[in-house]
Amino acid sequence: MKIYSTLTRTKEEFLPLKEGEVSMYVCGVTPYMDAHVGHAMSYITFDVIRRYLEYKGYRVKYIQNVTDIDDKIIDRALSQKIPARELADKFFNSFTEDMACLNIRPADAFPRATLEIPKMIEMITSLIQKGHAYAAKSGSVYFRVRSMPDYGKLSGRNLEDMMAGARIEPGDEKEHPMDFVMWKAAKPGEPSWPSPWGEGRPGWHMECSAMALGYLGESVDIHGGGQDLIFPHHENEIAQSECATGVKPFVRYWLHNGLLKLGEEKMSKSLGNLVTIKDALKFYSSDAIRLFVISSYYRNPLTYSLDALDASQKGAERLSKAAHIESNGQFPLELDLGSVEDSFVAAMDDDFDTPKAVATLFDLARQINTGRDSGLDISRAQQLLLKLGSVLGLTLAEPDTGSAEAGPFIELLLDIRKSLRQEKQFGLADEIRNRLASMGVVIEDKPEGASWHLKR
Ligand SMILES: [Zn+2]
Repeated sequence: MKIYSTLTRTKEEFLPLKEGEVSMYVCGVTPYMDAHVGHAMSYITFDVIRRYLEYKGYRVKYIQNVTDIDDKIIDRALSQKIPARELADKFFNSFTEDMACLNIRPADAFPRATLEIPKMIEMITSLIQKGHAYAAKSGSVYFRVRSMPDYGKLSGRNLEDMMAGARIEPGDEKEHPMDFVMWKAAKPGEPSWPSPWGEGRPGWHMECSAMALGYLGESVDIHGGGQDLIFPHHENEIAQSECATGVKPFVRYWLHNGLLKLGEEKMSKSLGNLVTIKDALKFYSSDAIRLFVISSYYRNPLTYSLDALDASQKGAERLSKAAHIESNGQFPLELDLGSVEDSFVAAMDDDFDTPKAVATLFDLARQINTGRDSGLDISRAQQLLLKLGSVLGLTLAEPDTGSAEAGPFIELLLDIRKSLRQEKQFGLADEIRNRLASMGVVIEDKPEGASWHLKR
């Protein structure tokens, strides 16, 4: 099995530190608002990787942190006049709900920054003792990048290059512009914790270093996150961890998923072009959203579009239908199921090439349908489809057969509603929409006309 590691920029043979076991750390959320589909993409990607490793027989320990204290949480809690803790709890609960709806299995532990502060203080103390860090006058503690000769190796940068773009702010208390904060001195009114350097709170990079080491040991097999985390976040995690323990590498395989774009822009909170997971789930099933994500190779950027999601919804329905279609055939469908599974494995073994793996599922579904039409027994092929689907986290739940039969009648109602609206009988038109909605049929008005789908 080969995995591409960002650190070496090559596909490497996958050899975990301990035979049969994989330790996996994935950077978690900062819960201050509802998670968006960009989060869904990243966590679906790593859920599939975890499921596949387990399918291969590995015991996987999967840790994902929760950044429950941060500037954004503090600001938003202040504006809502609630404690930061309460805000973080609320949105972490919302996040776990979203993950469950997407059939993403929960991590083995979700350590929270505010509950792991002693570990971080211990690590910072040891970095200071070793000369890799210093406390400034303010009470903030910084990592000394010049103390680490290979700083920049993950992102392929070196200090000279970085310096060219760095600005030295007047009054900066850092020794070097690229030094980064590990402990932030408290500002008045902010939540804070006592430390040897005064009241403050941990920096984000420190949080992940301390948790990865604390929960998984000094060398982690797989560390994942979005490509936007390579620099500075993951670069700084490496600096802190390797300098604190002296053990290299801190991470054996660095995996980064491509980013989700909405049209041409990267999906980010600052652009305000967000689609929340909850919104997406109003219109698409978890299988459709997962299929949308895994139909593209995980390291490539993915563009969010309703057309692509519509296509995935149809694809997911095609797979579910094939997995549950009934056949009374006596003679078995002659299909080498072993070789179907082999092609699935070959695709996934090649750095989790899910588009190819998905293609084998659609091939299998086609064979099932043909076999059924020829009156053959397709049950074993269906079992394999369900099994391989579940490795990708697809439920392939039995489709609601009633819906297909209701389709023409819903279309008829939509036509009537259109005429009513043309005659400005909006009351009646709305009643049709509302009554259909109460039966789980969602109508969407688009410039090209109304469309409908079932609420999932
Ligand atoms: Zn992290």
